[in-house]
Amino acid sequence: AAVLSLVIILKELHGLLTRDTTKDKLTLLPPRTRGVESLIGNTPLIEIKSLSKFTGCKIYAKLELTNPAGSAKDRVALAIIRNAESEGRLVPHQGNIIYEGTSGSTGISFAVLANALGYIAHICLPDDTSPEKLSLLTALGAEIEPVKPASIVDPNQYTNAARRGADEVNAKGENKAIFADQFENDFNWRIHYNTTGPEIVEQMGEHIDVFINGSGTGGTIAGVGRYLKEVQGQDTRIILADPQGSGLANRVNFGVMYDSVEREGTRRRHQVDTLVEGIGLNRLTWNFKQGEKFIDEAIRVTDSQALKMAKYLCINDGLFWGSSSAINCVAAVKTALKYGPGQRIVVIACDSGARHLSKFWKEATKIPNDVTLDEILAE
Ligand code: PMP
Repeated sequence: AAVLSLVIILKELHGLLTRDTTKDKLTLLPPRTRGVESLIGNTPLIEIKSLSKFTGCKIYAKLELTNPAGSAKDRVALAIIRNAESEGRLVPHQGNIIYEGTSGSTGISFAVLANALGYIAHICLPDDTSPEKLSLLTALGAEIEPVKPASIVDPNQYTNAARRGADEVNAKGENKAIFADQFENDFNWRIHYNTTGPEIVEQMGEHIDVFINGSGTGGTIAGVGRYLKEVQGQDTRIILADPQGSGLANRVNFGVMYDSVEREGTRRRHQVDTLVEGIGLNRLTWNFKQGEKFIDEAIRVTDSQALKMAKYLCINDGLFWGSSSAINCVAAVKTALKYGPGQRIVVIACDSGARHLSKFWKEATKIPNDVTLDEILAE
């Protein structure tokens, strides 16, 4: 707990020193009454120099991992809470409980914001979620409910558990709980449309040719994709980076939702899983559907490619990122080579490698330090 507190304090100090909080669009509070929630958004954008050099393009990453609870999900959690408050469904310090089904990131955002704003977070998550995320949720004092089976191929399991939990509390007559419902909640894609998208446009200051992201709930790619198409024009290409085992890539490219195994004719549905956490799905969510018509193409990335890219970025750029960020970067290099040099490409770096040390990074650590981009592309 002491180490965690120190990390949180250092992060906050770093955030305060490096952020322009006067431009915060997520809170209307005057500066002196601002708490940790005011550090959400206005995340930095950096160039991934090794990838730019290799491809002859300019490849940038929006560092959502610098949000105070460590991922892009801070934006969504705050937007959902503020909406519930405005409707009177959440009242601070009245024992109100926020139920959510999540692969981890959203749960951590809700746990931090629940503490900051006077609520209890109850998090239902797959029982193979990385131990780091579990420890974090425990340290943050959230109520945790691990749910089986734990797999991207049956995500309804933890979403349904969260819905049921909130219903059971409310059935007792006090209406003390909300089900945040990030997959279906309209405020998810809208907060990315209203904040993440405009921030990227402002930070780039020049035409963006390509935006790449994976889809968990689909909120980020729907919100940012829609915003970029509206303000930059139809020639800004929106690309979905999809992990093995997910049906979304085939949905985008072929209009049919099936995973790679089924497409090969074996008829074994949903047999492929992935080490990657937070993205990939075999059902259509409200938030993904809001973005579908803005997505131009999808690129499927294997776990092996993601592991190599994570290690490559760590060794060559000092960028220690999570699995979904690595997937985005594989897709960025492929896109750069496919459409030629000179393009300006933006990806999202959703969370840090520190959240994945004993699962994804346990494997990525084994990749030799001299791994090359050619090796990744050769697969
Ligand atoms: N990366 C990580 C690590 C995530 O946790 C998530 C959200 N589950 C995403 C990417 C995808 O974001 P979205 O839900 O907006 O599609």
